Amino acid sequence: MNIETARATYASSQATEHVDVLIVGAGISGIGSAYHLRRDLPDTSFVILESQESFGGTWITHRYPGIRSDSDLHTFGYSFKPWVGPPIATAQEILSYMGEVIAENDLERHIRYGHRIETASWSSETKVWTIEAVKLGSGERVAFTANFLWMCQGYYRHAEGYTPEWPGMDKFKGRIVHPQLWPDDIALKDKRVVVIGSGATAATLIPSIADKCAHVTMLQRSPTFFRLGRNAIELAEQLRQLQVKEEWIHEIVRRKILFEQDAFTRRCVAEPEQVTKELIGQITAVLGPNYDVATHFTPKYRPWRQRIAFVPDADLFHGIKSGKASVVTDEIDRFTDKGILLKSGQELEADIIVTATGFNLCVLGDIAFTIDGKPLDFADTVTYRGMMFTGVPNMAWVFGYFRASWTLRTDLVAEFVCRLLKHMKEQGTRKVEVALRPEDHNMPLLSWIDPDNFNPGYMMRNMHLLPKRGDKPEWQHNQDYWAEKDQFPAIDLDDKAFVYE
Ligand SMILES: Cc1cc2nc3c(=O)[nH]c(=O)nc-3n(C[C@H](O)[C@H](O)[C@H](O)COP(=O)(O)OP(=O)(O)OC[C@H]3O[C@@H](n4cnc5c(N)ncnc54)[C@H](O)[C@@H]3O)c2cc1C
Repeated sequence: MNIETARATYASSQATEHVDVLIVGAGISGIGSAYHLRRDLPDTSFVILESQESFGGTWITHRYPGIRSDSDLHTFGYSFKPWVGPPIATAQEILSYMGEVIAENDLERHIRYGHRIETASWSSETKVWTIEAVKLGSGERVAFTANFLWMCQGYYRHAEGYTPEWPGMDKFKGRIVHPQLWPDDIALKDKRVVVIGSGATAATLIPSIADKCAHVTMLQRSPTFFRLGRNAIELAEQLRQLQVKEEWIHEIVRRKILFEQDAFTRRCVAEPEQVTKELIGQITAVLGPNYDVATHFTPKYRPWRQRIAFVPDADLFHGIKSGKASVVTDEIDRFTDKGILLKSGQELEADIIVTATGFNLCVLGDIAFTIDGKPLDFADTVTYRGMMFTGVPNMAWVFGYFRASWTLRTDLVAEFVCRLLKHMKEQGTRKVEVALRPEDHNMPLLSWIDPDNFNPGYMMRNMHLLPKRGDKPEWQHNQDYWAEKDQFPAIDLDDKAFVYE
């Protein structure tokens, strides 16, 4: 159905509900944003539209064995709700935590599950967004209007993962599975499993299935960095023994972790060879001096150009040491009926091939946006600190950190949005848009993220879909929590970059 036909159907379907703020998505960002809105602007009406049947986003979509966070929950958890468990958490633990946030803050009544948003149209005449959604199951179409749109839709398509096309895939007689769509009926017992990929997903999945299948092989084209450590924070344990309040422990441990991460990030830039040596040294310490760490665990890129997955209690490496799991570093030539033929000529036989090959970037939740009837091409816009976009009124976008926990940015953006909404209320303005100032007009426009700084595959494949950045801090999405934590609260809302009506 094209947008015009859909719009006509919506118009005739039912009365439109109006809210001050419409939040897209009930993942960790949407729930966190709703908390801030309720706390800072209690009189603001809002709904959260979520296409899935429950909250959680990433943590409900991914159901593969062993699914867990790869960053600590003191910083991945919200600033306002203490995390009381071990730092690396399972998806179920994260969902329980989010469930408590929803219950404690009476957010449930604001969430409309099973509502997939299809279109969002801004009208300069009425200064509102019209959001059109389809109810899953019944297929009923519903419309909302909102003064402000808060995009918390995440960064990848939930309905499918990314699987490259390899020759011969159709000939393989076993089963090919993407971790994002893990089937309930898969039997691993006595099966030879090959996992393609060596990112956080592979590192989580492999140790959790190694005991359940005949053998699991991690097949990677090139090695990845990992950090190893205990799944515990000594300081938190000590403070608990001293019966310090959980609120204090949460804050102290967050500060400690953030301080250490900052120091680590700086070291990655200042002395990458030394950091590389230390990271690889941790692996050699588990696998022993005879293991070929040079081939399998020595990446070619600088640490921190891609997210470094934390491996709690070195479980992936203990699996390799025990012989239940192994690593092959090679390129795929093609799939065969028995498995995978590698460029080296070796054939990996398999009953199940898991393609842990990443995501499809999904900019703006696959929603067709129009501004006064004109389709919005996000790539034509310039980003204001990775959260607002030139030419797109009354809209904020939450895109978290990769080098630090995503949620740290959710909290920062939320505080900014609430401040902006309060400012508009005080001023009696109904529209805000960011615009390049006279001094910005000759600014060079660059790709959204500097590939030399951060370059995961899903970003590189889709950079052309993302907004542009400039060469000034205001017009960049810099992925630097330690700078933004001071910059965001200091943003001058009367700066010329903000245009109000
Ligand atoms: C397996 C895995 C592990 C990860 N581990 C970590 C980690 O340890 N630390 C970390 O910092 N980051 C991690 N990440 C990144 C992670 O995705 C984010 O940290 C965070 O969970 C994203 O939350 P979100 O709410 O922004 O987006 P999502 O979790 O993607 O949630 C977005 C929600 O919006 C909904 N939605 C999207 N489009 C629409 C639409 N059109 N209409 C209605 N609803 C819509 C989706 O259904 C979804 O529920 C991980 C990612 C994955 C995939």
